[in-house]
Amino acid sequence: MLAFVAGVTAAAVFLTASLVAVAGDQWWSGTDWVIFALFGTLLFLAETQPSFTMRFGDNGAVSPGWTFAYALVLFGMSIGALGILLVANTIVGLQSRRPVRIVVFNLAQIAAALSSGALVLHFFGFRESMGSIDAIPLTWGIGIFVSACTVLVLNGLLTAIVIGLHTGTGFITTLRTGLALTMSADAALLSLAPVFVIAIDFSLLLVPVLASTSYIVIQSARKSLQRAHQANHDPLTDLLNRRAFDDRVSRTIGLFGSEPDATLLVMDFDRFKEINDSLGHAVGDSLLVGFAERLSENLPPTASAARLGGDEFAVVIPGRRPQGEALQLTETLHRELTKPYDIDGFPLSISVSIGVAVAPSDGTNAEDLLAAADLAMYRAKQFGSRVVFHQTAGSAATGPGRIGLLSDLGSAIEQQQLTNFYQPQISFSTGRIDTVEALVRWQHPVHGLILPNDFIGMAEQTDLIDALTDDVLARSMCDLLLLDDDGISLAVNVSARTLHRRTFAPGIIATAETAGFPIERLELEITERALASDPDRIALTLAQLREAGVRIAIDDFGTGYSSFASLRQIRADRLKIDRGFTAHVGTAPEDRLVVKTITDLGHGLGLDVVAEGVETLEILAEIESLGCDFAQGYAIARPMPIQQLQMVVQARHHRDQVEVPA
Ligand code: C2E
Ligand code: CA
Ligand code: CA
Repeated sequence: MLAFVAGVTAAAVFLTASLVAVAGDQWWSGTDWVIFALFGTLLFLAETQPSFTMRFGDNGAVSPGWTFAYALVLFGMSIGALGILLVANTIVGLQSRRPVRIVVFNLAQIAAALSSGALVLHFFGFRESMGSIDAIPLTWGIGIFVSACTVLVLNGLLTAIVIGLHTGTGFITTLRTGLALTMSADAALLSLAPVFVIAIDFSLLLVPVLASTSYIVIQSARKSLQRAHQANHDPLTDLLNRRAFDDRVSRTIGLFGSEPDATLLVMDFDRFKEINDSLGHAVGDSLLVGFAERLSENLPPTASAARLGGDEFAVVIPGRRPQGEALQLTETLHRELTKPYDIDGFPLSISVSIGVAVAPSDGTNAEDLLAAADLAMYRAKQFGSRVVFHQTAGSAATGPGRIGLLSDLGSAIEQQQLTNFYQPQISFSTGRIDTVEALVRWQHPVHGLILPNDFIGMAEQTDLIDALTDDVLARSMCDLLLLDDDGISLAVNVSARTLHRRTFAPGIIATAETAGFPIERLELEITERALASDPDRIALTLAQLREAGVRIAIDDFGTGYSSFASLRQIRADRLKIDRGFTAHVGTAPEDRLVVKTITDLGHGLGLDVVAEGVETLEILAEIESLGCDFAQGYAIARPMPIQQLQMVVQARHHRDQVEVPA
């Protein structure tokens, strides 16, 4: 990159020196100062006033400056034009605090293009102002054409190469994705120059006509560039959008042919929704914008950043780097991104989780890499760690790689590899099984029995969770009908995502009908977190379910955030105290107090209270004394297959029958 800049600079110096050598003497004698002042001012304004220039991210810029600059060349004032161009662009470069090498390159590029154009004219015998002669000789006409093409092509190629080097994309693709557009606009602007010259020579009164013509050309170029830009960028943050990012990743990987090397980061705010809800969307938006800016500032120059949607961002960095370096880079990025943001004068802190995938080990195409980084990010959230590499995420958890599992899960559901275990809840008042909770298990042909914590979280990131829930529901209803007891209810866990599905409630009602399962015996367990995530959106689903007679239980109560508001808003039937509190009721007075308080709260709101995770008989007794209505846990029974549950139920019946006559 530096060598390239140096090469172009050297060439520019040489070309400029040649131009001064061949045309320097004509400069003072032949200059029409009125025209020079007019065009020079226009040129200077066009180059320095941002309202004239259309700069489009990584695809270059269009400015009417070239019309005026080239007109000056045709008037025989190429050295003057070059001087103004260089001064104007130095000012702009310094003002916008671009890196020095970029400013230098830009100046060299301008000098090389303009000097070559002027030298070509000179070569064709073009020695004086085009305005000063009556008829243009054919050679001059050809000369103008060749010279304009030289300017255009040199300028375009150099820009494409430097953008290509900068973003790590091939320069052909850079040409294709937008530079071609700016070049065609440049061509239109350049070809206006001779028209300007001839017209002005005819009468200065034509200046307004020409001005409006070029204005129209610029406007239309601006519009098409804007369209191209909008199609590829997120309107809020101006980062790449998802589509453009996928494209960029594919090209970045493609660059390295058979040995793709790239690092992909996916990052997501933790609890952005809370910020949005409590501080308003305007603050949320400012935060996203601030985040995007800071992200761009802290990335290596070859990286590309994108907003994938909501509060999810992604970055691709081309090239091979050892994992240590990638980790350091990501950690530094994380540190910068989580420094407080100044939003309307208030410092606002966020926490961010980053997932990292590396090509080629985590994938060799955009889709796989994004999925891998996504899963790593999800793991980071789960572990509560800042940054997780996909590879480490896979090996840190025992068993098969996450990706493999996720891609297996779809077919596993179809091939009926999922089964349900059932764990009883007993009622303190009757001493009998009141409800059984269905807990899904995956009987994997290679990895054996896999517990839900190893795949539910992943499934929840995709639509697979819907199919999984339907599968568990249908099977558990059929299973429960096998029990020799129609007084036992069925509890099934449902994820927040599934509750957002409009067809969920009618679907369950239909499934129960088909199975012949009385829907009043069904209870759905919804975590408190799910309720907090978007209570309004699931309210309708819950209302439909309650209407049909389905019971609602709030699961893992005490671990979420929205406890009281959601309790009031969602009319539930049961509260399940998280096993984190139950486990220590015998030893920790605070936990005892928490369980007691939740129980009283539940009763006050008219809910039945279930204590889960009851591991010992001591805890069971303790829980009963605190007033809980139901208990579930290893002390009573572990989750078991339906056949075993059948035997337990039968044995109990048998005992009852034996006991009753006695
Ligand atoms: P959960 O809803 O809190 O389910 C209770 C979990 O606690 C079960 O783990 C159960 O085996 C375990 N457990 C029961 N008694 C005790 C005890 O005394 N001590 C301890 N330490 N643990 C006990 P499991 O089966 O591994 O399920 C884990 C989680 O996976 C469940 O937590 C639930 O959130 C989720 N899950 C299970 N099945 C499904 C399903 O079909 N759909 C959805 N969406 N989630 C499910
Ligand atoms: Ca549960
Ligand atoms: Ca639970």
